[in-house]
Amino acid sequence: MNFRGKIIKHFFFIFLVYFFFNSHIAFANTTEEPEKKILILNSYHKDVKWSDDIIAGIKSSLKASDIKFDIHVEYMDTKKFYGENYIKSLYEMYKNKYKNSKFDSIISIDNAAFDFLREYSKELFPNTPMVFCGVNYFKDSMLESNSLFTGVVENIPIKETLDLALNLHKNTKNVIIIVSNSVTGKATKNALNEIIPYYVKAFNINFTITENFNLVNDKEELKQHSKDTIALLLSGYTTDYQDNIMTERDGDIILNDVPIPVYATWDFLLNHGVIGGKILSGKSHGEVVGLLTSRVLMGINPSNIPVVKNSESQYVFDYKQLLKYSIKSAYLPKNSIINNLPIKSYTIPTQLIWFFVILIITLLSFLILNISERRDAKAALIESEERLRTLINTFPALICLKDSKGRWVETNKAAIEFFNLDPVLWKGKTDKELLELNDVYIEGILKYQNFDNLALKKAQVTKHTEVFKKDTEEEKILEIIKMPIIDANNNSNSLVVIGQDITSLVKAQENKRLLNELVAYENLRTEFFANLSHELRTPLNVILSALQYIELIHANYNEHQHNNFESYSKYTSIMKQNCYRLVRIVNNLIDITKIDSGYFELELENYNIVEVIEEISLSVASYAETNGLSLIFDTDVEEKIIACDANMIERIILNLISNAIKFTDSGGQISINVYDLSDTIQISVKDTGIGIAEDKQASIFERFIQVDKSLSRNREGSGIGLSLVKSLVELHGGTIKLISELNKGSSFIISLPVYVIPDKEIKLYSDTVNHLSSEEKINIEFSDIY
Ligand code: ADP
Repeated sequence: MNFRGKIIKHFFFIFLVYFFFNSHIAFANTTEEPEKKILILNSYHKDVKWSDDIIAGIKSSLKASDIKFDIHVEYMDTKKFYGENYIKSLYEMYKNKYKNSKFDSIISIDNAAFDFLREYSKELFPNTPMVFCGVNYFKDSMLESNSLFTGVVENIPIKETLDLALNLHKNTKNVIIIVSNSVTGKATKNALNEIIPYYVKAFNINFTITENFNLVNDKEELKQHSKDTIALLLSGYTTDYQDNIMTERDGDIILNDVPIPVYATWDFLLNHGVIGGKILSGKSHGEVVGLLTSRVLMGINPSNIPVVKNSESQYVFDYKQLLKYSIKSAYLPKNSIINNLPIKSYTIPTQLIWFFVILIITLLSFLILNISERRDAKAALIESEERLRTLINTFPALICLKDSKGRWVETNKAAIEFFNLDPVLWKGKTDKELLELNDVYIEGILKYQNFDNLALKKAQVTKHTEVFKKDTEEEKILEIIKMPIIDANNNSNSLVVIGQDITSLVKAQENKRLLNELVAYENLRTEFFANLSHELRTPLNVILSALQYIELIHANYNEHQHNNFESYSKYTSIMKQNCYRLVRIVNNLIDITKIDSGYFELELENYNIVEVIEEISLSVASYAETNGLSLIFDTDVEEKIIACDANMIERIILNLISNAIKFTDSGGQISINVYDLSDTIQISVKDTGIGIAEDKQASIFERFIQVDKSLSRNREGSGIGLSLVKSLVELHGGTIKLISELNKGSSFIISLPVYVIPDKEIKLYSDTVNHLSSEEKINIEFSDIY
């Protein structure tokens, strides 16, 4: 029976159980009762499927009613043994066998057992309630003298099955009906004889009723029959081995090969080559019997339990046979049950179906969730990319992403606008290709590209500035930072370049620097004029004071006072000294101004520079000595002819010696040396004086610079001497440098190029117009020294 059939059956059964138990609630306590003894008198032997199914149905029904029971089955075996004598012998046997037995109820299966009990039950089993079943062709009169009987009638649905078969096989001309020769078979034949004339008359059908149709042997005979023959298998059939087979065991062998459609009325014949029919089920029959028995066991008199006359039957078919005879399920009666439907539809366990349904729903949910998550993720990704793009495009700095070959793979609006790039063509180009494409010039482009390599290969962050120039446009300065992008394996295959336009910043810084310089220069000038006025006023004041003193001496002249002359000469000497100082300041100022304005010209002649330096040194030696200093001249060459302006060399050397004397305390030493370095001649003026602090050394040659700027400084000077010296040296094409250490001394080293004016004779220093022999010069240059 298929799944649906089972459900309907169980539902029906549950309904009946519910009905019986609720209508006799007074017997609810029967479960407390002792075990009920039941005897089943089976007309047949064991293994007759019909009666076996009935017994199974009885048991399951009794179990459901919660009645404790003990069943004993007695097989009459009337299929093989029958006749009056046999029944009599059974009576004798049972009489003996059950003489001491008392049963709570006796159930008979099929007509032979029913007839036996009707005959002998009062004697064999007095006062025992009887429940019969499987009784064909029942009449109420059968129970007239048997008040302890109730039961279930077995109505064989022959007519319904015959109608069904003829409806499905409309061209049927012959019907073979196979019945057994049992008691039931005979009764069946009687019933058939009543209904057949109708079909013969109405449909002109030929009926053959056979008792001993051998389905195996007669198979060939059946084949002879045209397609207009069907068979109706009723109470039994015959094989070679056994008559009246009603067991399941031999069914297969026989029916599957039968060449005509076979219909039946019992479920045990299904699945063995029978198409189907209105089918009686032994089990269902037995379940109803069980219900009746349970009521009897509860104490209800069987006469008060009506006989169930409409035994349950259902249209049941075998799918394989329907297929074999091309019978469409649409032609079958409503609510028909079809067994053996294709496996795919009917053999999958329910749990498995539910499992798969739940699995599919779960998977679908996951899928939908996943799809929606992915959709959300994609939308979020697009949104985030847009945000990122907006961000990098709004960023004022230039951004570019390069691959391992230095090709641009991503950039922003600022970079595109800065280089005026084509919005599409920039992709995949290197710096060089892009700049050429856009006529942009970068000085040292290769050097900058090298920073790419540094960032990529050494994973270093680099920072530098690049100057860009395009056509006539003003140059632009970018500060560039290159950063490698490191992947999970610590490799860098791409880099980010960030550029910031610092043109205006650099220009502003440059302007600021120039402004600062201008301000500093202005401060210096102001300071210089303050110094200068002091420098000018000091000698003037001295001169003025000396003059006043002389005037005083003159007014108080007394020929007896001899000292007056001495005082007179002393003050004129002071006046002279300060006049020299004034002359020197003025001379220096004039020369500086001339040099600055480019009017100063050297009067170059070929001189023996060694002689010039030596002459100058020796001429001031006594001067140094009067200041307690020793002055030493030394040279590694006797003669070196170079083109120079001897008067200016004089100014240079006197200035340096004057400073050396000024800044060296008494007892110190001044050395003047000349070195021949072949292409250059080196002159050094070295002292053992106070020296110059390291932080002042760089600015010492700048104009108006004095190390000690206080007005109360103890040495005179205007701060333009060294500046003039440097300018004069440089006018000669030479250089001057300072080596000095505080409190140890200073050394000024002049290098002059060895250059001779061609075709010009060598001039002697002593022949020059402003030759130093005029003591005036020394007095002027040394006027700062007292
Ligand atoms: P000034 O007329 O004031 O001497 P210079 O230009 O000749 O101006 O010198 C500038 C300053 O350099 C001096 O004021 C002094 O501070 C320093 N200076 C120059 N020569 C020497 C030296 N030989 N030893 C120490 N300081 C020196």
